Amino acid sequence: MRVLFLGTGAAEGYPAIFCECAHCTTARARGGRNLRRRSALMVNDDLLIDMGPDLMASMHGTGANFGRVSTMLITHSHGDHFHPANLYMRRSNFCATTPAQMEVYGTPPTTGAIMTAANERNLSEEGFHLRLNTIQPGDSWQAGRYRVTALRAMHAEELEPVFFAIEEGGRTLLYASDTGPFPEETWLQLREFKFDCAIVESTMGIGPPGTHHLSMHQCVEHQLKLESEGLLQPGARRFATHFSHNRTPPYLECVDFFAPHGIEPAYDGLVVQV
Ligand SMILES: [Zn+2]
Ligand SMILES: [Zn+2]
Ligand SMILES: [Zn+2]
Repeated sequence: MRVLFLGTGAAEGYPAIFCECAHCTTARARGGRNLRRRSALMVNDDLLIDMGPDLMASMHGTGANFGRVSTMLITHSHGDHFHPANLYMRRSNFCATTPAQMEVYGTPPTTGAIMTAANERNLSEEGFHLRLNTIQPGDSWQAGRYRVTALRAMHAEELEPVFFAIEEGGRTLLYASDTGPFPEETWLQLREFKFDCAIVESTMGIGPPGTHHLSMHQCVEHQLKLESEGLLQPGARRFATHFSHNRTPPYLECVDFFAPHGIEPAYDGLVVQV
């Protein structure tokens, strides 16, 4: 399983567009891994998790080709993860070739928002070359070659957010963003898995514990709990993602923070062979 981090920033990206705080100023000066787009993840060449306003920039920055994406999983409809205008680019007048038929999975607020966006342009699912699949937290299903499980996130409750466990070719991936401390039902469901790679958000940085996002300390605690509960394969890669300039230092300082715990801060363009 090939995992490509398309974007590893929080809602406002890193640096934030109009911000001159110390973190943003340092990130601008250093460039490279300090520059983070809004979050999205690609698995192999055919599965995409989330599609925020930086999807185009992610393609430019990584060389990703989205034309063969046949499965799109959407965690929730916050604007940094979900930008329906991306779907307009699948119409025949914007896309000269016919994109792969795409199965899109989201909870009711997400699929509802896609239908609203389609109706505003007088478009159907067919016009977008996609089919909407409404899922619920706790659901498991087969999507092409992938077994996908949606786990309940502790985030904006009204959006019914989820995060995902993905199994393919005997390998298992956890991608947990956006979420605060995992709900107990999610920990119970996680016991069905042994992950080869675990990605956990750390939006709140070096700050007080979050309830609907995780701090860097909470990210470490969650990664250590995954290990102590026996949910990680030996040698599993562990990552933090969804970084905000508000309380999160630039890249190298994040490396130093996470290294003693065997965790790596993800960065835009990072490719991991799981
Ligand atoms: Zn987010
Ligand atoms: Zn800033
Ligand atoms: Zn969110």
